[in-house]
Amino acid sequence: MPELPEVETVRATLEKQIIGYTIKKVKVYCERIVLNEKEDVINAKLVGETIRKINRYGKYLIFILDKHSFLSHLRMEGKYFLKKEDEERNKHEHVIFSFTNGLELRYHDVRKFGLIKILDTTDMKEILKEEELNKLGPEAHSLSLNATYLFNKLHKLKESLKTALLDQTIICGLGNIYVDEVDFLSNLKPTTSCQMITYDDCENIIKNSRLVLNKAIEAGGTTIRSYTSSLGVTGRFQLNLNVHTKAGSPCPLCGTIIEKIKVGGRGTYYCPSCQKDHPLIVGLTGSIGSGKTTISNYLKEKGYLIIDTDEISRSLTKDNKEILNKIKEEFGPSFFINGELNRKELGDLVFNNENERNKLNNILHPVIKDKVKEIIRNSSDKIIFVDVPLLFESGFDKLCNKTICVVVDKTEQIKRLKLRDKLNDLDIQKRIDSQMDLKKKSELATFIIDNSQDLCYTYKQTDKLIKILEGEINHD
Ligand code: ATP
Repeated sequence: MPELPEVETVRATLEKQIIGYTIKKVKVYCERIVLNEKEDVINAKLVGETIRKINRYGKYLIFILDKHSFLSHLRMEGKYFLKKEDEERNKHEHVIFSFTNGLELRYHDVRKFGLIKILDTTDMKEILKEEELNKLGPEAHSLSLNATYLFNKLHKLKESLKTALLDQTIICGLGNIYVDEVDFLSNLKPTTSCQMITYDDCENIIKNSRLVLNKAIEAGGTTIRSYTSSLGVTGRFQLNLNVHTKAGSPCPLCGTIIEKIKVGGRGTYYCPSCQKDHPLIVGLTGSIGSGKTTISNYLKEKGYLIIDTDEISRSLTKDNKEILNKIKEEFGPSFFINGELNRKELGDLVFNNENERNKLNNILHPVIKDKVKEIIRNSSDKIIFVDVPLLFESGFDKLCNKTICVVVDKTEQIKRLKLRDKLNDLDIQKRIDSQMDLKKKSELATFIIDNSQDLCYTYKQTDKLIKILEGEINHD
């Protein structure tokens, strides 16, 4: 079945061939293909009009003439041929547009599933309001598609990611071939429930849709079975396929054998190692000294994987040469003693100055994020907790399915910090002020744990939450 890149290839090829051609006659051999008009009405509307432009939306071709236009969807097997009018008609050529120059545009469709619809306008705004087009989502490779839109659409759905991405009302232009390729590049198993898809996954899906579709358009589409361009162009994207049709071959990234399964009735190809089951990723945050580490340690004891971003940050600022060089470049050599970063000095600077703090975060956060993603990718745990003090401030929540905010009564917080860090009131206040207000954080979080009382009370709440999270992953 032709997908968006193949239809785009047909569009671009036709545009080079038939722009400026004037219609002399239209012959309809199969009425069911032309949706809305009979042959005599079509002739009354189109004869004498010239093809001015050929547009496309999703898999619809839109032929713009002088006062009219027509939509064309190729469905399973539709093709266009440009032939001389004296050439014999093939029995599968169902609609023939004859031009005044002796050439004919012939719509060929073995299965007769395609459609043509004549419209009384050439205004694209009006055309896009047609019922066939107005229900389509944004094109998968368009710059107007953004992660917020896709996340809002997907995360409420119970169906599989593959099924949702094939649904043209959500995004249009991804068909069976390209969804497999996009899922592969996004490290997402096609059977993943949409509810497990994070905002970050949506960003990856969009990035990879653009990559795959633009590359496929550049290559003239993919030539597999039914699609071979009738117009003298053969798609070459099959040479770039990573997984689609590759069952039994090694994954180009890891060498694991590609498998073929059925998802929503469609043959689906994926790499079982690169596209594992999606874990439930739970972000853990709170204010300074609110009890994140205390709860993390409790979860660790219970056997859960905790990714501690503070620990990653400490390790990066200890011996990651690239990071240390960037810090030296940004803040100067005075923050280094014998080649080692003076963390206390830099800490004092950044806690006192938002601008400096942002500079440091801009150096560290992208690298920490990549490290977190790598740990998640390499783990087979079903639930993974990520301890991030600045979960919402730094956008780490986009990596998570759920978030927990640990809250604490402020007097108790100050008391505990004095005891733990031997800081004075002013320093404690500066550190608290440097983070997002705890009330705001708790409003953004999916769950709250109140750690103002004794540990027993905190652990009880944590146990309750674990039950809920375990229920989330087991309910399918
Ligand atoms: P930071 O933001 O600095 O990483 P944190 O959020 O990880 O801090 P913890 O280190 O877990 O907070 O807790 C801060 C201090 O409070 C620690 O000394 C810890 O032992 C103590 N503490 C945590 N929870 C309780 C509690 N429920 N009762 C008494 N002390 C507690």
